[in-house]
Amino acid sequence: MIIDSHQHFVRLAKHPEVEGFRQAQLAGKNLDVPKISDADVTKSLEQVVSLMDSRKIDVAFASPRAKAMATHEGTPEQNAIWADLNNGLIIRACQLTPSRFAPVGMLGQHPSCPSEQVAKQIERWTKEGFIAFNFDPDGTGGRWQNQPFTGKHNYPVFEVAQALDVPLVLHGSESINKNFPHTAVQYLVADITGFVQLMMAKDLFRDFPRLRFLIPHGGGALPCQIGRWRAIAKYNSWASPDEILGNGNVFVDTCVYNDLNMQMLFDAVPLESILFGSECDGAFPGVVNDETHDHYDNTRRYVDDSKLNAADKARIYAANARRVYPRASRWIQA
Ligand SMILES: [Zn+2]
Repeated sequence: MIIDSHQHFVRLAKHPEVEGFRQAQLAGKNLDVPKISDADVTKSLEQVVSLMDSRKIDVAFASPRAKAMATHEGTPEQNAIWADLNNGLIIRACQLTPSRFAPVGMLGQHPSCPSEQVAKQIERWTKEGFIAFNFDPDGTGGRWQNQPFTGKHNYPVFEVAQALDVPLVLHGSESINKNFPHTAVQYLVADITGFVQLMMAKDLFRDFPRLRFLIPHGGGALPCQIGRWRAIAKYNSWASPDEILGNGNVFVDTCVYNDLNMQMLFDAVPLESILFGSECDGAFPGVVNDETHDHYDNTRRYVDDSKLNAADKARIYAANARRVYPRASRWIQA
């Protein structure tokens, strides 16, 4: 079995009525939440299902379009409605395509939104069947004006995530700063920042020993900068990257787009902490890698081409994802 742990339903998020609702909402207009037909939801998935079939990906964990989460905009009330609209679409898409997807939610985060409210959203949508949630370590649109996300202000979120056994995916969103395009910089800054904050958070895993985080995009700069982080961890008496990657709390995915960096990822990170991910048809749809003459985001190719043995590949392709996302079982055919 092959599980893609990192997908977004980008085409669904780009439905004109969905985008139109958010624009109107932010402009202060009181529109009803749009009702997208089953036919439109299913049609938005055609391309991604076809790519999954051609790449022999059985199941994907899918969340709303990351850029469009953008909860630095709007009020906490507007963002709660926006998150509910997106989560409602995600779960319907998963239900309309049985055994192919499992839902990962977004949260109505905002600098002024009490984390108790965010925790309630996790409770509500986990009951509906969600298996994990994107959690933006910034949440201020690239301004980074918030306190480090590991602080006690977010403990209500961590308490409920641990109690319900749902991992938090530290995924960035839109950037207001033109120097930091979202897919090229802001997401990776969120990965790097999230990972380093976890190294710095001395009490977090003592207080929440079963809390789990997924750092997407191969952990940001992790494959090539782990040496730097090992050094600074010793210098500052932080947890070392090896410690937090080896203790069952922190995981990364394989969303890196060439053989060299994939191999560096496998060398840097314990294999039980790596989950297959590809962002299939999300980040750079249809863009071809001149080295492979295949799509860059066909990350299966880089895993298949690696020197890992079959048992290790099987762990990365499915076993780790099933262990880290235990609630996915109900969405996956035995
Ligand atoms: Zn993503």
